[in-house]
Amino acid sequence: MTFLKRFLIPDEVFRQMTDVPFSALYDRGFRIALLDLDNTLAEDHVTEPSAYTFEVIQKLEAAGFRCCIVSNAKSTRSADFSARIPIECISYAHKPSPAGIYRALALLHAEKSQTIFFGDQIFTDIIAAKRAGVYAVYIEPVTKVEKMYIRIKRPFERIVRRMYHF
Ligand SMILES: [Mg+2]
Repeated sequence: MTFLKRFLIPDEVFRQMTDVPFSALYDRGFRIALLDLDNTLAEDHVTEPSAYTFEVIQKLEAAGFRCCIVSNAKSTRSADFSARIPIECISYAHKPSPAGIYRALALLHAEKSQTIFFGDQIFTDIIAAKRAGVYAVYIEPVTKVEKMYIRIKRPFERIVRRMYHF
């Protein structure tokens, strides 16, 4: 497997979080759900969880998962967001570094082999998950309305997705 392929290709792809078969993943031995915030669990750059956020977390917890947000966002915004659900949160995760994922694993006393990362960006979320050695699930972005620094990466993501058929 090439270097690119090893870090850019998610293990699974879903259109939205509510499409993920959480119980089936639990039955395969997964117990921990690490979640990107912006455009995975809610729209981009929000401060409050939405009905969609609560639905996703409720489904995950009902299936038996423990959840933790792992976000590159400032600690105040992501911490306030997760406190309203409430679930654990790692802010300033510095994805594509795996550091934030390691912090989440330590916080939850979790094993890599039982952990899934869900995120909407190949060049931050999927790379971070792959580098950390956890199962990587790519979710299509909740909305197309994004900040410029994210929007400029999307055409490159489309190239990778076309190259590797996902
Ligand atoms: Mg995101």
